[in-house]
Amino acid sequence: MTLTVRCPECKNKMKCQPQGSAEGKSKRCVYCGRSFSVKANMSN
Ligand SMILES: [Zn+2]
Repeated sequence: MTLTVRCPECKNKMKCQPQGSAEGKSKRCVYCGRSFSVKANMSN
């Protein structure tokens, strides 16, 4: 499963391929380096 997530800091979109469940996982933005919750961004 591939998710498209959006960074809350720089608004860039990126792909995320979580291992197993995506809920509760954190993703670090490849553009600005900010870590954010994948779950909070799944609906974007
Ligand atoms: Zn960012």
